[in-house]
Amino acid sequence: MSEIRIVQNVLKHNDEIAAMNRQRLRDAGVFWIDLIGSPGCGKTSLLETTLRRLHGRIQIGIIAGDLATDRDAKRIQACGAKVVQINTGKGCHLDANQVRHALDEIDLTGLDLLIIENVGNLICPVGFDLGQDAKVGMFSVCQGDDKAAKHPHLVRAADLLILNKTDLLQHVRFHPVTFRDDVEKLNPDVAIMELSVTESRVDPWLDWLISKTAKAQAQTGNGSPEPTPLIQGGI
Ligand code: MG
Ligand code: ZN
Repeated sequence: MSEIRIVQNVLKHNDEIAAMNRQRLRDAGVFWIDLIGSPGCGKTSLLETTLRRLHGRIQIGIIAGDLATDRDAKRIQACGAKVVQINTGKGCHLDANQVRHALDEIDLTGLDLLIIENVGNLICPVGFDLGQDAKVGMFSVCQGDDKAAKHPHLVRAADLLILNKTDLLQHVRFHPVTFRDDVEKLNPDVAIMELSVTESRVDPWLDWLISKTAKAQAQTGNGSPEPTPLIQGGI
Protein backbone atom coordinates (compact mmCIF):
# COMPACT_ATOMS: atom_id res chain seq x y z
CA MET A 1 0.00 0.00 0.00
CA SER A 2 2.73 2.45 0.96
CA GLU A 3 4.37 1.83 -2.39
CA ILE A 4 1.31 3.21 -4.14
CA ARG A 5 1.39 6.33 -2.00
CA ILE A 6 5.05 6.93 -2.86
CA VAL A 7 4.38 6.71 -6.55
CA GLN A 8 1.52 9.16 -6.24
CA ASN A 9 3.72 11.58 -4.35
CA VAL A 10 6.41 11.35 -6.98
CA LEU A 11 3.90 12.10 -9.70
CA LYS A 12 2.41 14.99 -7.73
CA HIS A 13 5.86 16.50 -7.26
CA ASN A 14 6.56 15.88 -10.94
CA ASP A 15 3.38 17.69 -11.96
CA GLU A 16 4.32 20.72 -9.87
CA ILE A 17 7.68 21.02 -11.60
CA ALA A 18 6.04 20.37 -14.97
CA ALA A 19 3.72 23.32 -14.33
CA MET A 20 6.78 25.53 -13.71
CA ASN A 21 8.39 24.29 -16.92
CA ARG A 22 5.16 24.97 -18.80
CA GLN A 23 4.99 28.56 -17.59
CA ARG A 24 8.66 29.13 -18.37
CA LEU A 25 8.29 28.06 -21.99
CA ARG A 26 5.00 29.90 -22.37
CA ASP A 27 6.62 33.12 -21.17
CA ALA A 28 9.38 32.60 -23.74
CA GLY A 29 6.86 31.96 -26.54
CA VAL A 30 8.40 28.58 -27.30
CA PHE A 31 6.27 25.69 -28.54
CA TRP A 32 7.54 22.38 -27.19
CA ILE A 33 6.99 18.74 -27.78
CA ASP A 34 7.59 15.50 -25.92
CA LEU A 35 8.39 12.94 -28.63
CA ILE A 36 7.69 9.41 -27.42
CA GLY A 37 8.41 6.28 -29.45
CA SER A 38 10.08 2.91 -29.20
CA PRO A 39 13.77 2.31 -29.99
CA GLY A 40 14.33 2.27 -33.73
CA CYS A 41 11.09 3.93 -34.84
CA GLY A 42 13.07 6.84 -36.28
CA LYS A 43 12.88 9.61 -33.66
CA THR A 44 16.42 10.89 -34.10
CA SER A 45 16.23 10.54 -37.88
CA LEU A 46 13.04 12.59 -37.85
CA LEU A 47 14.80 15.28 -35.83
CA GLU A 48 17.76 15.34 -38.24
CA THR A 49 15.45 15.77 -41.22
CA THR A 50 13.38 18.38 -39.38
CA LEU A 51 16.47 20.41 -38.47
CA ARG A 52 17.80 20.33 -42.02
CA ARG A 53 14.49 21.21 -43.65
CA LEU A 54 13.61 24.02 -41.23
CA HIS A 55 17.12 25.47 -41.03
CA GLY A 56 16.98 29.25 -41.24
CA ARG A 57 13.21 29.24 -40.86
CA ILE A 58 12.59 28.47 -37.20
CA GLN A 59 15.09 28.17 -34.37
CA ILE A 60 14.93 24.70 -32.84
CA GLY A 61 16.42 23.37 -29.61
CA ILE A 62 16.58 19.69 -28.71
CA ILE A 63 16.75 17.84 -25.41
CA ALA A 64 17.86 14.25 -25.99
CA GLY A 65 17.06 11.60 -23.41
CA ASP A 66 19.17 8.47 -23.58
CA LEU A 67 20.18 5.76 -21.11
CA ALA A 68 23.88 5.62 -21.81
CA THR A 69 25.19 7.29 -24.94
CA ASP A 70 25.49 10.68 -26.58
CA ARG A 71 25.12 9.24 -30.07
CA ASP A 72 21.77 10.91 -30.74
CA ALA A 73 23.04 14.21 -29.36
CA LYS A 74 26.06 14.08 -31.67
CA ARG A 75 23.86 13.38 -34.70
CA ILE A 76 21.62 16.30 -33.77
CA GLN A 77 24.56 18.61 -33.13
CA ALA A 78 25.90 17.77 -36.59
CA CYS A 79 22.71 19.34 -37.96
CA GLY A 80 23.64 22.61 -36.30
CA ALA A 81 21.07 22.51 -33.49
CA LYS A 82 21.43 23.39 -29.85
CA VAL A 83 21.15 20.10 -27.98
CA VAL A 84 21.22 19.17 -24.31
CA GLN A 85 21.78 15.55 -23.42
CA ILE A 86 20.15 13.87 -20.42
CA ASN A 87 21.63 10.48 -19.59
CA THR A 88 19.14 8.61 -17.45
CA GLY A 89 21.37 5.63 -16.53
CA LYS A 90 18.89 2.92 -15.58
CA GLY A 91 15.95 5.34 -15.86
CA CYS A 92 13.48 4.43 -18.58
CA HIS A 93 11.81 7.85 -18.91
CA LEU A 94 12.45 11.55 -18.45
CA ASP A 95 10.84 13.44 -15.59
CA ALA A 96 10.02 17.12 -15.20
CA ASN A 97 12.92 17.81 -12.84
CA GLN A 98 15.49 16.44 -15.30
CA VAL A 99 13.95 18.62 -17.97
CA ARG A 100 13.99 21.65 -15.67
CA HIS A 101 17.76 21.28 -15.27
CA ALA A 102 18.20 20.75 -19.00
CA LEU A 103 16.24 23.97 -19.61
CA ASP A 104 18.82 25.82 -17.51
CA GLU A 105 21.38 24.90 -20.18
CA ILE A 106 19.33 26.36 -23.04
CA ASP A 107 19.05 30.01 -24.01
CA LEU A 108 15.32 30.25 -24.66
CA THR A 109 15.69 33.74 -26.11
CA GLY A 110 15.35 33.49 -29.84
CA LEU A 111 14.20 29.88 -29.69
CA ASP A 112 10.93 29.06 -31.48
CA LEU A 113 10.57 25.35 -30.94
CA LEU A 114 11.92 22.82 -28.44
CA ILE A 115 11.65 19.09 -29.06
CA ILE A 116 12.39 16.54 -26.37
CA GLU A 117 13.40 13.13 -27.66
CA ASN A 118 12.27 10.97 -24.78
CA VAL A 119 13.92 7.67 -23.87
CA GLY A 120 12.89 5.00 -26.39
CA ASN A 121 9.98 3.48 -24.50
CA LEU A 122 6.23 3.51 -25.13
CA ILE A 123 5.16 2.96 -21.54
CA CYS A 124 6.17 5.12 -18.58
CA PRO A 125 7.14 8.33 -20.46
CA VAL A 126 3.40 8.70 -21.01
CA GLY A 127 2.75 9.07 -17.27
CA PHE A 128 5.28 11.85 -16.68
CA ASP A 129 4.14 15.32 -17.65
CA LEU A 130 7.19 17.41 -18.54
CA GLY A 131 5.19 20.60 -19.09
CA GLN A 132 5.17 20.19 -22.89
CA ASP A 133 2.53 21.71 -25.17
CA ALA A 134 2.08 18.46 -27.07
CA LYS A 135 2.86 14.81 -26.70
CA VAL A 136 3.68 13.16 -30.01
CA GLY A 137 3.58 9.37 -30.19
CA MET A 138 5.72 7.75 -32.87
CA PHE A 139 5.37 4.29 -34.40
CA SER A 140 6.85 2.65 -37.48
CA VAL A 141 5.35 0.05 -39.78
CA CYS A 142 8.27 -2.28 -38.94
CA GLN A 143 6.94 -2.71 -35.40
CA GLY A 144 3.68 -4.32 -36.50
CA ASP A 145 0.12 -3.04 -36.79
CA ASP A 146 -0.83 -4.13 -33.25
CA LYS A 147 1.28 -1.56 -31.43
CA ALA A 148 -1.40 1.10 -31.05
CA ALA A 149 -3.76 -1.42 -29.41
CA LYS A 150 -0.95 -2.68 -27.20
CA HIS A 151 -0.02 0.82 -26.03
CA PRO A 152 -3.40 2.43 -25.38
CA HIS A 153 -2.09 4.95 -22.84
CA LEU A 154 0.24 6.56 -25.35
CA VAL A 155 -2.46 6.66 -28.03
CA ARG A 156 -4.96 8.25 -25.63
CA ALA A 157 -2.46 10.82 -24.34
CA ALA A 158 -1.06 11.78 -27.74
CA ASP A 159 -1.91 15.07 -29.42
CA LEU A 160 -0.49 13.69 -32.65
CA LEU A 161 0.62 10.26 -33.87
CA ILE A 162 3.34 9.62 -36.42
CA LEU A 163 3.52 6.42 -38.42
CA ASN A 164 7.00 6.24 -39.93
CA LYS A 165 8.77 4.07 -42.50
CA THR A 166 5.75 3.86 -44.79
CA ASP A 167 8.21 3.30 -47.66
CA LEU A 168 8.69 -0.21 -46.22
CA LEU A 169 4.98 -1.12 -46.17
CA GLN A 170 5.28 -3.63 -49.00
CA HIS A 171 8.02 -5.53 -47.14
CA VAL A 172 6.46 -5.92 -43.70
CA ARG A 173 3.29 -7.34 -42.18
CA PHE A 174 1.44 -4.17 -41.39
CA HIS A 175 -2.19 -3.50 -42.25
CA PRO A 176 -2.78 0.26 -42.08
CA VAL A 177 -6.54 -0.26 -41.64
CA THR A 178 -6.00 -2.35 -38.49
CA PHE A 179 -3.69 0.28 -37.04
CA ARG A 180 -6.06 3.12 -37.90
CA ASP A 181 -9.11 1.29 -36.51
CA ASP A 182 -7.33 0.65 -33.21
CA VAL A 183 -6.30 4.31 -32.94
CA GLU A 184 -9.82 5.46 -33.82
CA LYS A 185 -11.29 3.37 -30.97
CA LEU A 186 -8.80 4.71 -28.43
CA ASN A 187 -8.57 8.35 -29.49
CA PRO A 188 -10.93 9.42 -32.28
CA ASP A 189 -9.60 12.98 -32.24
CA VAL A 190 -5.94 12.28 -32.85
CA ALA A 191 -4.44 12.69 -36.31
CA ILE A 192 -2.09 10.05 -37.74
CA MET A 193 0.66 11.40 -39.96
CA GLU A 194 2.12 8.80 -42.29
CA LEU A 195 5.74 9.75 -42.95
CA SER A 196 8.82 8.32 -44.54
CA VAL A 197 11.76 10.03 -42.94
CA THR A 198 14.31 8.23 -45.12
CA GLU A 199 12.54 9.48 -48.24
CA SER A 200 12.11 12.91 -46.65
CA ARG A 201 8.32 12.66 -46.93
CA VAL A 202 7.69 14.75 -43.82
CA ASP A 203 5.91 17.87 -45.11
CA PRO A 204 2.71 17.48 -43.01
CA TRP A 205 4.89 17.27 -39.90
CA LEU A 206 6.89 20.37 -40.86
CA ASP A 207 3.70 22.30 -41.57
CA TRP A 208 2.27 21.25 -38.22
CA LEU A 209 5.42 22.49 -36.45
CA ILE A 210 5.44 25.80 -38.33
CA SER A 211 1.78 26.40 -37.57
CA LYS A 212 2.03 25.49 -33.86
CA THR A 213 5.19 27.53 -33.42
CA ALA A 214 3.60 30.59 -35.01
CA LYS A 215 0.57 30.26 -32.70
CA ALA A 216 2.76 30.04 -29.59
CA GLN A 217 4.63 33.16 -30.68
CA ALA A 218 1.45 35.05 -31.49
CA GLN A 219 0.23 34.39 -27.95
CA THR A 220 3.25 36.18 -26.51
CA GLY A 221 3.23 38.86 -29.20
CA ASN A 222 6.37 37.67 -31.02
CA GLY A 223 6.69 36.47 -34.57
CA SER A 224 4.27 36.24 -37.46
CA PRO A 225 0.73 35.07 -36.69
CA GLU A 226 0.24 33.87 -40.28
CA PRO A 227 2.72 31.18 -41.27
CA THR A 228 3.22 30.17 -44.88
CA PRO A 229 2.62 26.43 -45.13
CA LEU A 230 5.08 24.22 -47.02
CA ILE A 231 2.17 22.40 -48.62
CA GLN A 232 -1.54 23.11 -48.82
CA GLY A 233 -3.99 21.22 -46.65
CA GLY A 234 -1.62 20.38 -43.80
CA ILE A 235 -3.10 19.45 -40.45
MG1 MG B 1 17.16 8.29 -30.82
ZN1 ZN C 1 10.32 4.69 -16.80
